[in-house]
Amino acid sequence: MAIRLRKKGSPYGVRVPESKLSEKMPIEAAPLPEKVVIPLQQNIGAPCQALVKKGDKVLTGQKIGDSDKFVSAPIHATLSGEVSGTTTVVNPPTGALVEALVITSDGEDKWTELSPPRNPEKLSVKETLERIREAGLVGLGGAAFPTHIKLSPPKGKEIDTVILNGCECEPYVTSDHRMMLEYGEPVLSGLKVISRVLSPKAVYIAIEDNKEDAIDHMEKLVAKLGFTDFKIAPLKSKYPMGAEKTLIEMILGREVPIGGLPLDVGVVVHNVSTAKAVHDAVIEGKPLVERVVTVTGAVKNPKNLMTRFGTSLKSLIDYCGGMDERANKVILGGPMMGIAQFDLDFPAVKGTNSILVTESHPLREQDCISCGKCVEICPMRLMPTLLARYAKAGRYDDCQDNYIDDCFECGACTFTCPANIPLVQYIKIAKKELAKRKAGK
Ligand code: SF4
Ligand code: SF4
Repeated sequence: MAIRLRKKGSPYGVRVPESKLSEKMPIEAAPLPEKVVIPLQQNIGAPCQALVKKGDKVLTGQKIGDSDKFVSAPIHATLSGEVSGTTTVVNPPTGALVEALVITSDGEDKWTELSPPRNPEKLSVKETLERIREAGLVGLGGAAFPTHIKLSPPKGKEIDTVILNGCECEPYVTSDHRMMLEYGEPVLSGLKVISRVLSPKAVYIAIEDNKEDAIDHMEKLVAKLGFTDFKIAPLKSKYPMGAEKTLIEMILGREVPIGGLPLDVGVVVHNVSTAKAVHDAVIEGKPLVERVVTVTGAVKNPKNLMTRFGTSLKSLIDYCGGMDERANKVILGGPMMGIAQFDLDFPAVKGTNSILVTESHPLREQDCISCGKCVEICPMRLMPTLLARYAKAGRYDDCQDNYIDDCFECGACTFTCPANIPLVQYIKIAKKELAKRKAGK
């Protein structure tokens, strides 16, 4: 029998040590590398095909990859120079091999000509979405879903609320926090564009209450810019507050149905860095070639670096003084949802918000003591202990019957388990097996 616990509105989530080592570090530009490795897939959906070949000269911002598939976003050169070849890299979330273009810099960082619109406010919705697509925008909160599609709800789905997600609930990660403090105006300008596209009745800016400076700053900017329709929603700092479905429930009291999406309850959620990228694309005509990456943990000088895509993880860690003696593992993302990385030549890509060097060592897994903690805290009201048990036994159909697809892999259950059971890892294995079966593999 399928089980879903916890009543609507009851407490959930975990308090995690925040360790925001880089929260006071202003964003600085990472040095431009001598070469970049640019995977041709940096979004959920279809990969791009290369539009350039070995020996071609490219300019920064030039489109070098695109796809005719619906769910995809183009890729741009992040340096000027020459395409020196192709290679393959492992795409960390899926483990699949992805083709990548290698560009060797000419040291000049010459940009392609940008085409900002004369009067951005007069752009039609279609023109705005085209600009967002052409600029290669994907969700920068980690999901990397093409932004123009998220902004195009299917017929019959009316969007009445937009939520700008500035929660950044993952420990250690500070890129969105700094983005709000240092690029607040373009973030709000991007949110205005999003709002024009979707015409919602309400717009919320969600920020956790551990970022008081960002709450104050955004409040002041909203008043200064006269965006009185934007409401700041300060939220308790508790993991995983920044998850879309959690945010929607906390702010609006709406529950996204099982297997559903935010748009099923009339909501679209965008991350603050995505909003800034929307401003750059639509108002300035600038494609997405860089983002803020927090480099933190067991490194000498944790920083927030404006990073060109394709820069190697190693060079970013080295720029932060290198790993210190505590270093044990490198994770892309935060400690709760991040993915361990085995190759430091791998490049920072659109979905890379953080590089975390951890010092932790895995703890020995013990038997479940049926304490129920994982069940109590699961934001999706799942039974993580049961899902993990079924996954271990290879009973994947039972996992499916118990809503495994609703698990968004926040890792809160693993964090809270006193028996050190890697619950989310078992769940991920089961999801992968179910996906393989679905694909007929
Ligand atoms: S990882 Fe999945 S099962 Fe575990 S707490 Fe998060 S949503 Fe629930
Ligand atoms: S938290 Fe761990 S020990 Fe407690 S019920 Fe869940 S799996 Fe079992």
